Amino acid sequence: MSRRAWAEPWKIKMVEHLRMTTPEERRRAIAEAGYNPFLLPSRLVYIDLLTDSGTSAMSDVQWAGLMRGDEAYAGSENYYRLERAVREHYGYKHLIPTHQGRGAEHLLSQLCIREGQVVPGNMYFTTTKLHQELAGGKFVDVIVDEAHDPENEHPFKGNVDLAKMQKLIDDVGPERIAYLSLETNVNMAGGQPCSLENIRATCALCRAHGVPVFLDATRALENCYFIQQREPGYRDKTLSQILREICDQTDGCTFSAKKDALVNIGGFLAINDDTLATRARNLVVVYEGLHTYGGMAGRDMEALAIGIEESVSWAHQHARIGQVEYLGRKLLEAGVPIVRPIGSHGVFLNAAAFLPHVPRDQFPAQSLAAALYVDSGVRGMERGAVSAGRSKETSQSLYPELELVRLTIPRRVYTQAHMDVVIESVAELHRHRERVVGLQMTYEPEFLRFFQARFEPVTGDRVLRD
Ligand SMILES: *Cc1c(COP(=O)(O)O)cnc(C)c1O
Repeated sequence: MSRRAWAEPWKIKMVEHLRMTTPEERRRAIAEAGYNPFLLPSRLVYIDLLTDSGTSAMSDVQWAGLMRGDEAYAGSENYYRLERAVREHYGYKHLIPTHQGRGAEHLLSQLCIREGQVVPGNMYFTTTKLHQELAGGKFVDVIVDEAHDPENEHPFKGNVDLAKMQKLIDDVGPERIAYLSLETNVNMAGGQPCSLENIRATCALCRAHGVPVFLDATRALENCYFIQQREPGYRDKTLSQILREICDQTDGCTFSAKKDALVNIGGFLAINDDTLATRARNLVVVYEGLHTYGGMAGRDMEALAIGIEESVSWAHQHARIGQVEYLGRKLLEAGVPIVRPIGSHGVFLNAAAFLPHVPRDQFPAQSLAAALYVDSGVRGMERGAVSAGRSKETSQSLYPELELVRLTIPRRVYTQAHMDVVIESVAELHRHRERVVGLQMTYEPEFLRFFQARFEPVTGDRVLRD
C-alpha cells in the first residue's frame, strides 16, 4: 500500500541551539543525578524525550496571543476567551482554571471522594491516583486485560472492562463508588485509546447506577484521532465532533493543558453540575487562585485558548502522531521490543524484554533510561516499578506488569533527523544489551518517588559498561 508522508503542516521560524556533550560528560552527569533522568540539568540533554508535558512549541499565533494578556486580578478577558474555547470544543458548562492538571485533580478528589470510597479508573495515573488516595479514596483498576500486555495489538487498549466495572458495582455498591475516572488515551498503558463505543457503554452503565463519570481529558484529542482512524463510522467526522461526542457522555473533566493544548503550563476542571461548580469555585481560591485565573497568568489563558483551537486540527494530529509512528515503526524494524500498537504521545520500550538479564528489583526501565542517556544524550523516563511506588495498605513495592521506558515526543519540536538519532542509539543499545547494568535505590522520596529517587549501579560504577 502506498502511503503519503505525514509532513508537518508548519515551518520553523525560530531555532533553539542544543548543546552536544561527550560520553564522559554524560557518564559523570548521570552519576551525579543518581541515575535518575529527572535530576539531569536540561542543558546536558541533547534530545529531550522525558515528557510531552509542557514541552510543546507554541505557534506564532500563540506567541502573539501572549501580548494580549489581560493581567487583571479578576475577570480577565482571557478567561472569557478560554471559557468560550472550552465550551465550544469540550462542551462543559463551567470552567475552573488551575495551574496545571494535578491542581484540577486535587479539587475534584477533595470535592467528590469521601473517606473509604473507591475510585475506579482505566489504569492509574501517578498524580491522579495520589490525589484520590490523599482524599481518602482507593483506586481500583478496571481497564481491559489487553492493556497490561505490551504485545497485544488490540486497537483500543484504553477501554474499560465492563465486566470488571459491573463486578465492582455489585461488590461494593454504587454508593461507595465516588466516580469513574475515565482517561482518554491512557498514558500509563502506552498512549492507548478508548473507543467511542466503549465510552458510550461505560457511561451508560455508570449512569444506570448513579455513578458519575469524570474524564481525564488530558490527551482526549489524540484519542479522537485514533477513533477517527480506527473506529468504523468516524472517518468523516472532525476531531472536534468526536471530542464533543466523548465529553457529552460525562459529567466533567480534569485537564492538563500541557499536553494536547500546546502550551507550557496550565490546566482546568470543567463540570456541568451547577452546585458542584459552586463548590469547586469555593475551593479553587484556597489552593490555586481566584476562579477566573486559577494560577494561570492572563496571557497563559490566551495561549491556551488558541492552543485548544490548534489542537483540534486534523493535520496537526496527523503529523504529531505520524512522527511518533515513524519512530515506533523504525524501532520495530530494528527488532526492539516496544509496546504495540504504537501509541500517540511516545514510544514505550518494553524494558523487561529489552534487558532480560536485569531482574525486576534492579529496575530494568530505570537502568535502560540511564544507559540511553549515556549512549547518546537522549533523555527518556521510567514507567514501571519506580513509578508505581508502594502499596498504600502494605507499603510493599508494587511491580506492575508493564516495565517501560517512555520516549515521549514533544509536539512540534523535533525533526525526523532527531528521530533517526534516537533510533540508532536505541537499536545499538539493544544489540549490546548485556552492557546495561541494573540499579539499586539509594534514596526514596515519600510521594511520587520516580521524580526524585536516587540510584546506583548494583555492580561497578557504570550503568553502561564499555
Ligand atoms: C500530565 C497528566 C496529568 C497531570 O497533569 P499536570 O499538568 O502534569 O499536573 C494527569 N493525567 C494525565 C493522563 C497526564 O498525562
